[in-house]
Amino acid sequence: MWVGNRCHPPKDVQLALESLFGEAVGGIQVIQYSIYVRFHWRAIATTRPDRIYLRGSGKEFFADGPLVLHEYFHVVRQWATGDLTIGRYLRECFRRGYWDNRYEIEAREFTATEIFRYRALLAQHRTSELPPGVHPIRHRSA
Ligand SMILES: [Zn+2]
Repeated sequence: MWVGNRCHPPKDVQLALESLFGEAVGGIQVIQYSIYVRFHWRAIATTRPDRIYLRGSGKEFFADGPLVLHEYFHVVRQWATGDLTIGRYLRECFRRGYWDNRYEIEAREFTATEIFRYRALLAQHRTSELPPGVHPIRHRSA
């Protein structure tokens, strides 16, 4: 519906996120160059259930570890659990503003706590990457 196109995380990013969150993240759609984000003041990304909308490119996004953790946290730990709804989010923003609403505080705290572990996981998955043209036999399951 919204103009933009789907992009996919690099394999190492996806594996690092799955190790970190302890669940599959392949079902989360990431939409780059989304017009939708432009309606959100100054936002570079915005989330919905199973969706991350980006103002810019997926390539830039996936290279930005803290931003990746922050946005996936909103989707995996807030939207998917039913904790975050549009109504609640707006209420929180109305009461406390964007920066101080609890969904943003939680996402920033998670990012600050987990970023080093995420980077270590990323490095680990990067080094275990197979050479080009070689495909793994084992398939990951959720
Ligand atoms: Zn946020």
